[in-house]
Amino acid sequence: YRRAPAPSLATLHTASAAAGAATFRLLQWNILAQALGTHADNFVKCPPEALHWSTRRFRIMEEILTHSPDIVCLQEVDHYSLFERVLGVQGYEGLFIPKPDSPCIYLPENSGPDGCALFYRTSKFQLVEHHSRILEIWRVQSNQVALLVTLRELQSQRELTVLTTHLKARKGALLTSLRNEQGKDLLQFLEQHRHGRPAIVCGDMNAEPVEPVYATLTQSHQPSLSSAYATVNDGHEPPYSTWKIRGDGETKHNLDYVLYTDEGSSALQVLGALDHPKEEDLGPGRAPSFSCPSDHFSLVCDFALPPLKRPPF
Ligand code: NDP
Ligand code: CA
Repeated sequence: YRRAPAPSLATLHTASAAAGAATFRLLQWNILAQALGTHADNFVKCPPEALHWSTRRFRIMEEILTHSPDIVCLQEVDHYSLFERVLGVQGYEGLFIPKPDSPCIYLPENSGPDGCALFYRTSKFQLVEHHSRILEIWRVQSNQVALLVTLRELQSQRELTVLTTHLKARKGALLTSLRNEQGKDLLQFLEQHRHGRPAIVCGDMNAEPVEPVYATLTQSHQPSLSSAYATVNDGHEPPYSTWKIRGDGETKHNLDYVLYTDEGSSALQVLGALDHPKEEDLGPGRAPSFSCPSDHFSLVCDFALPPLKRPPF
């Protein structure tokens, strides 16, 4: 099995938090919707038993809980009520926003639409407010959604805004352009609700770092966002965050990101990030598999919140 147990991140560890700074761990993961994984993706090298929900649900929960994150951001969630129950007894509360016309609902044996979910540990964070958005492309609603949650860290009383999303999939010039428009809409949505707070924007962006949406998200002036995995790796994104074999061949891409505000009073500090599984850990069938329940790998990052300028009285 590929991952080191919580609380220490085994690899890509970079920095220590300033004395007294509040720290937290975030896990970002496209968990692979059960309906899509079994009836749409055509993972030809994955043993069918590894795709059974009776197997995958335990492996997904195990991976989340092993890392003991304080915030969990998930995409392709088509069994939200199960996550709510299981993570609920582990001390988390969550929110869910389904896609308006999820492809899952057209597939056999589906369990409803897939969407984005966010969970937070209630002993660490208190919910301040939450908003959701159907992302717009040239002012027209698309089939992609974003969930934005503002949390208050209980020890420091520092507030943090977290936005999670799953941008439009598929290749081609038009789709590249659509994703870029969704990225612009995402930033507007963030700015509408962030009010200068430190923020994290994470999700499956379905875009390699060379795509325009990556530059849109990381190079716009307001807010200034950096990618956590690039920060801990001398400015380089990992070579892949998903690696799979479908009927039409093998694909290996870096599509999933944890972006964070990096400037001024809203600057978060990245303390470490967990490396993705190596080729030898994945085996010839790549992912999903018995050891990796999704075709995407989980991103796990430790952050320090910026200190408040004055005591919270
Ligand atoms: P997207 O194009 O964003 O993709 C939906 C899902 O398909 C994503 O979760 C994506 O996963 C996955 N996916 C990406 N590439 C492939 C692939 N090569 N093979 C299998 N699955 C893949 O979809 P939208 O939400 O915009 O919805 C549109 C899609 O929904 C249409 O393409 C259609 O297939 C389906 N649909 C079907 C309907 C019907 O049957 N009547 C009605 C409405 C929609 P990831 O992000 O991990 O790559
Ligand atoms: Ca998928």
